[in-house]
Amino acid sequence: MFCGQCGFTIAPGVRFCAKCGKAVAPASPMPPANAPTPPPRATTAATRTAFATAARGD
Ligand SMILES: [Zn+2]
Repeated sequence: MFCGQCGFTIAPGVRFCAKCGKAVAPASPMPPANAPTPPPRATTAATRTAFATAARGD
């Protein structure tokens, strides 16, 4: 295994690069969990339209 930052050879089982100190990624890849689903905006738009209609007095 090699350090992804400096390329230093890292012994198996070591979790930090001995040269630059960067944390080494684990052998098992983890699924990305940085894709949050944005909340629906339909409710907000409908509420805004309702307020606008009430303000106009239709
Ligand atoms: Zn390194």
